[in-house]
Amino acid sequence: MFPEFCIVQPFIRYDPWNRKKVVAITGASSGIGEATAELLAAKGAKVVLGARRTDALASLTDRIQKAGGQAAYQQTDVTRQTDAASLVQLALSAFGRLDVIINNAGVSQLQLLEDVDVEGWEQMIDVNLKGTLYGIAAALPVFKMQGYGHIINIISTAGISIVPTMGVYAATKNAVRTISEALRQESKGRWRVTGISPGFVDTPFTGKIRNEGIRSVLTQRANEIAIPASAIAEAVVYAISQPDQVDIGDIVIRPAIQD
Ligand code: NDP
Repeated sequence: MFPEFCIVQPFIRYDPWNRKKVVAITGASSGIGEATAELLAAKGAKVVLGARRTDALASLTDRIQKAGGQAAYQQTDVTRQTDAASLVQLALSAFGRLDVIINNAGVSQLQLLEDVDVEGWEQMIDVNLKGTLYGIAAALPVFKMQGYGHIINIISTAGISIVPTMGVYAATKNAVRTISEALRQESKGRWRVTGISPGFVDTPFTGKIRNEGIRSVLTQRANEIAIPASAIAEAVVYAISQPDQVDIGDIVIRPAIQD
């Protein structure tokens, strides 16, 4: 007979791999954000969706819920710091915590620098750079309090191979790359940081470029070579599902044929 202190208790352990993660996603109304939300929700994550178009967010939330998943949404313009903060608050009020924020909202107004499209430059800086910073600002106090968290920034191969017309767009994305690395180093294990740089992805993205000539050239190229948004969503799932002590840093995902 074993003495009482030797009785083996069932081995109950906090298992980060099985935890249903709470994931906030900006720019969830279409493209990569939408595909990522659907895949994460299908894998059991609780997704908190932000973008400006609430009709698209409502129908995505409905689809996820009808498929048995959990989702909440809120109109979010990432150029407003208060909107980013209230998206994170929604995660806390709806699901009790925030495990991951995906700073995905982005725009590209591509133009030669000599065309001096200051309005386009400001739009990209406001959404791609300041919007990402506002997401980080909203999430970090929660991550510090919780002692864990994960920031995923959607960057771009435009920041890796610099080409004409993409100067300011690439600059905003490379600023995010730099900030991601600083965040990683400052984390000291308290949160994880992942930067994902897609190449041409089949989304409405290039169709939103104002300059007609550049829009049609890039849309045609995208039609020829773009990879599905699900390829990026799969990488997000990979980064998120690593054990807490494993940080997936930079991932580049592009069509095999892309220059
Ligand atoms: P989409 O145009 O489909 O998605 C962009 C998303 O950003 C939309 O959901 C849009 O929602 C949102 N968004 C834009 N402005 C704001 C804003 N002010 N506040 C909140 N949300 C905003 O394109 P993708 O899915 O392709 O783009 C997602 C990310 O991927 C972007 O950061 C982009 O730079 C990056 N990327 C895309 C590539 C591609 O080839 N598609 C290549 C490399 C990087 P709404 O309009 O409803 O606000």
